Amino acid sequence: MRIFIGVAWPYANGVVHLGHVMGAYLPADIFARYNRMIGNDVLMVSGSDEHGTPVTITAEKEGKSPQEIVDRYHKINSEVMNKLGISFDLFYRTSHENHEKVVKEFFLKLLENGYLYEEEMLLPYCPKCHRFLPDRYVVGTCPYCGYENAHGDQCDNCGRTLDPKDLIEPRCAICNTPTEFRKSKHIFFALSKLEDRLISWIEEKDFWRDNVKRFTYQFLKSGLKDRAITRDINWGVEIPMEGYEDKRIYVWFDAVIGYLSASMEWARRNGKSWENYWKKEAKHFYFLGKDNIPFHTIIWPAMLMAHGDLNLPYNVVANEYLQFSGRKFSKSKKIGVWMPELLDNFEPDMIRFYGAVNMPEHRDFNFTWENFISTINETLVGKYANLVYRILSFAYRNFGEIPPRGDVDELDREALKMIMRTRKKMSEYIENVEFKKAIKEWLELVNFGNIYFTKKAPWTQCKENKEKCGTTINICLQMVQALAVFGAPFLPFSSEKVWKYLGNEDSIFEHQWNEGIKNLPAGRKLKEPEHLFHKIELEEERYEKWNQMDIRVARVKSVEDHPDAEKLYIVKLDLGDDERTVVAGLKKYYSREELEGREVLILYNLEPATLRGVKSHGMLLAGDDGERVALLKPMEDLKPGTKVMANGAEPAGEKTLKFKKFKKMKIEVVDIKENKAIGAEEYTLDFPLRDEWLGKQGVVFHDKKPLILHVGEVLIVPDKRITPGGQVR
Ligand SMILES: [Zn+2]
Ligand SMILES: [Zn+2]
Repeated sequence: MRIFIGVAWPYANGVVHLGHVMGAYLPADIFARYNRMIGNDVLMVSGSDEHGTPVTITAEKEGKSPQEIVDRYHKINSEVMNKLGISFDLFYRTSHENHEKVVKEFFLKLLENGYLYEEEMLLPYCPKCHRFLPDRYVVGTCPYCGYENAHGDQCDNCGRTLDPKDLIEPRCAICNTPTEFRKSKHIFFALSKLEDRLISWIEEKDFWRDNVKRFTYQFLKSGLKDRAITRDINWGVEIPMEGYEDKRIYVWFDAVIGYLSASMEWARRNGKSWENYWKKEAKHFYFLGKDNIPFHTIIWPAMLMAHGDLNLPYNVVANEYLQFSGRKFSKSKKIGVWMPELLDNFEPDMIRFYGAVNMPEHRDFNFTWENFISTINETLVGKYANLVYRILSFAYRNFGEIPPRGDVDELDREALKMIMRTRKKMSEYIENVEFKKAIKEWLELVNFGNIYFTKKAPWTQCKENKEKCGTTINICLQMVQALAVFGAPFLPFSSEKVWKYLGNEDSIFEHQWNEGIKNLPAGRKLKEPEHLFHKIELEEERYEKWNQMDIRVARVKSVEDHPDAEKLYIVKLDLGDDERTVVAGLKKYYSREELEGREVLILYNLEPATLRGVKSHGMLLAGDDGERVALLKPMEDLKPGTKVMANGAEPAGEKTLKFKKFKKMKIEVVDIKENKAIGAEEYTLDFPLRDEWLGKQGVVFHDKKPLILHVGEVLIVPDKRITPGGQVR
């Protein structure tokens, strides 16, 4: 099937924000990518809407030409689309000469078909500036609310749409001179002639979204009036008629024709046919925000009807608004919701995921940073990226390739059924332009994957029966493949990464949607995976207490008895580039032989102290439950001198730490279970835990939240089991 996708043109007088993306560009892109993956022939275009008075007003304010203004915003917004992965076949612009050519031809065709006529209008004129004043150039008092600076087209105070004639005491916005009303000739589009035809066409569209039908019928209720398509302005497409040299085509008329001109320009540049999409059988989908509905359900279709032999819209998909709570991202990082800054700070797939999960399909959605961060951290990273990484890294380390599938059990069969179900449900929803429901279906598979992986516990299976473990991993990898393929229209960048980790050489977008269920070939080599995303760290969340610490791995070189103290040893430590001597009260618990050559942890920046005449530089860390004392160490030997991390954060620890301050730090030995740590109490750990850590004892450092101590993939552990909750000293 051939599909044309037209996406509302961003106005080139500003930068697009998250609301525009969630309202139009993201849903259009999901739809386009999906349709290409099921083998449809898709053409998707949009571009910058560059004419009209807001541009000329900005230009006058800045002392620049209108072209300079639109060049600036076209560049910024093109980059946004690109970085966000909006896969337009062409992102065009209305100031391009070929667009102007197409608009003129369109105009002449409507004239020839009898849908355009001339009429004189009474328009505001400034006798001082010697010019007619387009609506934004007239200001005056609003007849409804009394606001003194209402514009000729709208009152910014009460929001009502106005006509310059409605204003009380209208004056020129540039020189403040009271305006006169003078006669000016303009061209009108005979919209009223098409009313009956439009209504019967709209009545067939019972599958349109409710909001689209509602806005459309509301517009029709007052009857269709003919509209002026030219105006007194010098920035816009010239009018191909004599006597109109100082007038231009009205911006709304020129902008919607952009869908056609962009298709033609794309065809010209790529040696393709635009007629295939506009004159042969093709379904036309338009994506836009709700303010644009009547332009796409009434005015543009009417223009197409008047023109003749061009395809009319099939579905017009409009979203509601995104409301902003207005708060900035954080006190120091003043990020708003404008796309360039969002893209500088977050991965495009994070923004796309948030946009898809919260798409304002049926009602306005209220954006808050709290919600943004929790959606990314808890769902995208905590559930999806974590699952994919656990599976891929486990498979890579234990098999290095896709293991064969042996006998399957009930749970395995359920997993395979879930994959089929996800494909079917997501297809139905996407084809029905319900993207929020589609991504929720995808998340169901993510949730199922997490349950499956935990229930199967392949890390235990692997020790008992490697073949059985292979079957589990095979099915896990099938789920990963399904998530990558079915997630690709939503998360194109990370899906591509996952696709490569699964051992594929080519792009996921060269493959079909149905390959999400294809059996993986056993024996194909896997690639070493990396984390897909990292959690968003709020500056306010920085670890204040942890940053005062500096804990390092050390190897014991020698142990001597303290000459003047029965309970103390003098321990010499190797720290790679450094050596240290510490005095430790370990004689009661460890023999010299038990200590020599082993790894320990040293609190490196502790203020030096003299203990019975011997200087101690730092302190060995051990857990103590009142009965037993267990020295802390990395689970596997590491290079001496390595710094210990807490939840992935290396401490700054530049300053010397006073013993009194260290005494106030709460560090305890815990049992690790899933994402929980059980010590004196039960704590939830907000950090992706390695499978090998589960069931082990670890060490938690209490800051604003409990932090787990580790070095990369190596957990910090007590060297023997002690009662959970035992304090580290
Ligand atoms: Zn008002
Ligand atoms: Zn004036």
